[in-house]
Amino acid sequence: MKHVIIGNGPAGVVAAEALRKADAAAEIVLIGAEPEPAYSRMAIPYLLEGDIDESGTYLRKTEGHFAGLRIRELQGRVVSMDTAQRKLLLADGQFETYDRLLVASGSHPVRPSIPGIDLPQVQTCWTLADARAIANLAKPGTRVLQLGAGFIGCIIMEALAARGVELTVVEMGDRMVPRMMTPKAGNMIRNWVENKGVRVLTGKGVQRIAAVAPNPGLLDRLAQAVGVGGKADTGGLTVTLSDGEEIACDLVIVAAGVAPNVGFLDNTGVQVAKGVLVDNRMQTSVPGIYAAGDVAEAPDLFTGAHLVAAIQPNAADQARVAALNMAGREARLPGVLAINVLDTLGLVSTSFGQWWGETAQNGGSGVELADDANHRYISLQFKDDVLIGATSIGHTEHVGVLRGLIQTRTRLGSWKDSLLQDPNGFMAAYLASAQSAA
Ligand SMILES: Cc1cc2nc3c(=O)[nH]c(=O)nc-3n(C[C@H](O)[C@H](O)[C@H](O)COP(=O)(O)OP(=O)(O)OC[C@H]3O[C@@H](n4cnc5c(N)ncnc54)[C@H](O)[C@@H]3O)c2cc1C
Repeated sequence: MKHVIIGNGPAGVVAAEALRKADAAAEIVLIGAEPEPAYSRMAIPYLLEGDIDESGTYLRKTEGHFAGLRIRELQGRVVSMDTAQRKLLLADGQFETYDRLLVASGSHPVRPSIPGIDLPQVQTCWTLADARAIANLAKPGTRVLQLGAGFIGCIIMEALAARGVELTVVEMGDRMVPRMMTPKAGNMIRNWVENKGVRVLTGKGVQRIAAVAPNPGLLDRLAQAVGVGGKADTGGLTVTLSDGEEIACDLVIVAAGVAPNVGFLDNTGVQVAKGVLVDNRMQTSVPGIYAAGDVAEAPDLFTGAHLVAAIQPNAADQARVAALNMAGREARLPGVLAINVLDTLGLVSTSFGQWWGETAQNGGSGVELADDANHRYISLQFKDDVLIGATSIGHTEHVGVLRGLIQTRTRLGSWKDSLLQDPNGFMAAYLASAQSAA
């Protein structure tokens, strides 16, 4: 049996190792498009902060780890597939055949089609190559404009602040993290970062990015005058916003959403919506082809509707399930639960499940409680007496309990009314319902 895995991020690596554990004799090939050892994108902010070096981002640190497990690593980009002949074509013209295939190709950052988006001082923050470019351009005092204040945008803010840049964030939505946080929570995060010196502009888009001609002589003289060197001499930028405001900056970081890497699946019969559609065994619409991680759209825990849950723990869980099924065992994913945990310049926020709630006609009810002075907030959303979603700010302890209550679909009975009165009592509700279940 020959298993081929497209993508050597967390999903691909976990799947390759799980396959080896399940089948000592199988041939396993792990294909990665980037010229790097297998690494974790979520470590990039720590690299930019200087907490780790590049090797700290590597998923497996022992020399010869994959060879020791008889997992063949192949560097190359898959460009097309022939599912009838079970064959992949790589960009360099090589072919690879397979018996079972895992698509674990992740996603890529979207670059909105804006004039100037391809200028060298406009960067995404997704790969190790991106991190090197940002480290080179973002020095103390560099004026950075970040396009987008979603999950990735908020995560990288800490690293940018640690590099001493002057930061402006432009978000098209009406608040920060609009696709993951309630309006109140998004605005509390905004207040927090503004108090840390970040300029935040919401409800605005970037219309144009233009390079200002560099003036090396002037820059050299300025650098000599203030005794600094090392600021990238690439010339400045002018960013024009949708309301006509012009912002001068040195670097634009694009964090405006992602799209799955699925181009090579064109004309293969593998069904793709937002991501590759899979069942709860992680199998796609084509038998023998599986998908896991950021590229996969798997059934939601509650509704069964398909959902991309682009976080590393989901990638690993899905990869394990896919690998066991590829190896001929039976494994099922109970369903995807949206889990978002963010640390935005030191403010921890979370959202779980259907955080936006359910309509009253469908048995929905909810409560939110904010303590602005202490940067604490909680919102709980119920369907009948079951907690289906939650949002929190400033709760660092016991927040996993919210996830547990949602995941186990615990019937709260009269505890629901207590929580509608005092949502901060979720720990007591959990303990009481766990005891009655026991
Ligand atoms: C800056 C940043 C911070 C993050 N922070 C967090 C966090 O705090 N917590 C969290 O849970 N998640 C975080 N994430 C998200 C997390 O990194 C992803 O959910 C995770 O990497 C998904 O793993 P994956 O294996 O599915 O995809 P990826 O890690 O994207 O790996 C996919 C691999 O496939 C390769 N590939 C793509 N196309 C092809 C092709 N055609 N042929 C061959 N290979 C291909 C890619 O090069 C890549 O190596 C962060 C992401 C970023 C960018």
